Amino acid sequence: MASFMPISNFRFCVFVTLIAFVSLSEPLFLPACHARTATIVLDPGHGGNDSGAGRNGGLAEKQFSLALAQKIAGLLGARHRVELTRTSDISLAPADRAAVANHLRADLMISIHAAVAPYCSDRTAAVYFHDDERLSLPPEIAIPGTATESDADQPAWARLQIRHQHQSRYMAATLKQSLEDSGTFDSVAVYGVPLAPLMGADLPAVLMEVGCIRPTAAPGPSTRGKQLNDYAESIAKAIETAVAGLAR
Ligand SMILES: [Zn+2]
Repeated sequence: MASFMPISNFRFCVFVTLIAFVSLSEPLFLPACHARTATIVLDPGHGGNDSGAGRNGGLAEKQFSLALAQKIAGLLGARHRVELTRTSDISLAPADRAAVANHLRADLMISIHAAVAPYCSDRTAAVYFHDDERLSLPPEIAIPGTATESDADQPAWARLQIRHQHQSRYMAATLKQSLEDSGTFDSVAVYGVPLAPLMGADLPAVLMEVGCIRPTAAPGPSTRGKQLNDYAESIAKAIETAVAGLAR
């Protein structure tokens, strides 16, 4: 490729595009001049009979997560394909959430939740990736009679996310850094824990816990609207950064 070095990036992209069309075959790669267009699945937590946190007053977590996901989708939609696992107040089983992302062959899935007072603030967030050490143990060190052995009975979908754990962990770290850099959050924690909505996701996937639901003291509509906008802008930027780091 050394002979292309003197050519400007724009000309190189045009050149590659022309070659791709002239060859009338499936291009092996897209011109590097375009930012990656990804398929992103946002999964608003809870829904239907499951209100999540805050069901006794104010904004329930299921409403918060849906409103936030819709705002993020609005910000990312111009450049990426963004799909939501639910767009209304319906119940969804954990496996069905991952199934949406698998069906779409998405590049990244993000479940969206809120934390619950008193162990949070409006300026804290956490990013989780699925980690089940019983499923991660290599067979050669599995001990007969332990939980690892019985996991052979686990349905195949329950082990799908483990294959992507390394990339999901990387996504979590990237999102954490971007969210902290945004200035919207003071601190963002990263945890690896077993996550039912993600264990069947056959793609990089994380769960975000953003903000703080207070069952007895919900903010007024205007405060809530600004807060959601701030969260959505920070998360959309963080997702852009994370998607750019995905393997092409
Ligand atoms: Zn939740």
